[in-house]
Amino acid sequence: MPDQDRVRPGANWDMTNGAWLIVGAGFTGCTLAERIANVLGRKVVLVERRPHIGGNAFDYYDESGVLVHAYGPHIFHTNSRKVWEYLSRFTEWRRYEHRVLAVVDGMRVPVPFNVNSIRTCFPAAAAAQIVGRLLRYYGWGANVPILTLRQHHDGYIRLLADYVYEKIFYEYTLKQWELPPDELDPLVTGRVPVRVSLDDRYFQDIYQAMPANGYTALFQRMLDHPNIEVVLGTDYRQLAPAREFKRIIYTGMIDEFFEFRRGPLPYRSLRFDFVTLNKERFQEVGTVNYPNGQPFTRISELKHITGQVVENKTTITVEYPERYAPGCNEPYYPIPRKDNRAHYLTYLEEAQKTNGAVLFAGRLGDYKYYNMDQAVGRALQLFESIAAAEGV
Ligand code: FAD
Ligand code: UDP
Repeated sequence: MPDQDRVRPGANWDMTNGAWLIVGAGFTGCTLAERIANVLGRKVVLVERRPHIGGNAFDYYDESGVLVHAYGPHIFHTNSRKVWEYLSRFTEWRRYEHRVLAVVDGMRVPVPFNVNSIRTCFPAAAAAQIVGRLLRYYGWGANVPILTLRQHHDGYIRLLADYVYEKIFYEYTLKQWELPPDELDPLVTGRVPVRVSLDDRYFQDIYQAMPANGYTALFQRMLDHPNIEVVLGTDYRQLAPAREFKRIIYTGMIDEFFEFRRGPLPYRSLRFDFVTLNKERFQEVGTVNYPNGQPFTRISELKHITGQVVENKTTITVEYPERYAPGCNEPYYPIPRKDNRAHYLTYLEEAQKTNGAVLFAGRLGDYKYYNMDQAVGRALQLFESIAAAEGV
């Protein structure tokens, strides 16, 4: 490919008449494409390296007719009414509250670890003491991060904290990140706090549901607009020169965009094994975590999550954490740590030098551990600033 045919950082951006180029057809790219096409009435070229839309939320029907999530189980949950109402334009919903059990010493206990988990794992007298202390220090209904709990002076709280740290967090986190919990941003393990209640749901958000016809159908409706051209299976660098595009929104890896000139940012990856079984059900809840003693972290059964009825067949997904190997697997997770954030900020400086010709967003563009609703919220916020600048 001749050099001038590449969209390169630092190229002579001519942003006068062309369409908007959006790189990446995940939640971030699809939201921005839909808004720019619909509200601004502009042409959008949405280019995606993978052979499908939806990014990591892509789903499809496997050979046995089970709707599966290609890149691990995706459960929608949000406290943002704005995000909920926005996505509700493109899908009906099916109510679903995710529940997770963790295998601990042969028992299956609710995670986030709650009062029922405590009563299952500790002798009655110790459990009563622990729950009493939790109520005294934190109150009923509190959610306490494991790293906070570990710092407590009270012996019973420490007994609980050490147990939960060892049995639930330590090995799982080493597998998932190749780092122990205290070497990651506390927000990582804080996603799964200890709950001082009987609430056994994985999430407590106001809105929790699954798109009734799946995520891919939702994305298809978002992109169903004459102003949007979708180009699949294509790296954006293979497209026509930058000057054809008014502006670029980039939702891939920010370090890759700048050709790693400040060094590669670290990411974690996963391998997913899909297994179809000739039975109605494999496990009792959507996900079972295996913190210890297995090379995988969790097994999810999609039929629980989607509510799909398929007779005598079920498909499970087993997740094996992996190092990110460019070209071999996907960079699913930025690794939230102070030094990585500082490293990312050097790329943000590069981004600012484009003077707004290239806008970065999304889990990879912002190098942030976003959930789907946060990716959409961030995209809507970016769109508002674009619309304001365009005088809309
Ligand atoms: P992505 O979905 O990563 O989309 C970016 C796209 O850009 C990719 O498709 C990529 O192929 C494309 N791209 C990159 N570079 C180029 C290039 N050079 N040219 C063309 N295209 C390019 N969130 C939840 O809310 N609930 C969950 O239960 C949940 N579970 C998850 C489970 C797993 C295993 C993982 C990995 C994530 C999970 N998430 C969940 C997070 C969710 O996947 C993300 O928040 C969301 O997909 C982010 O969307 P995005 O558009 O920012 O990024
Ligand atoms: N975690 C853990 N044990 C568990 C569940 C979670 O150690 O049983 C830790 C682990 O570090 C994980 C993090 O908490 O990466 C966040 O978990 P979550 O389920 O939110 O991860 P995701 O669904 O984003 O992979």
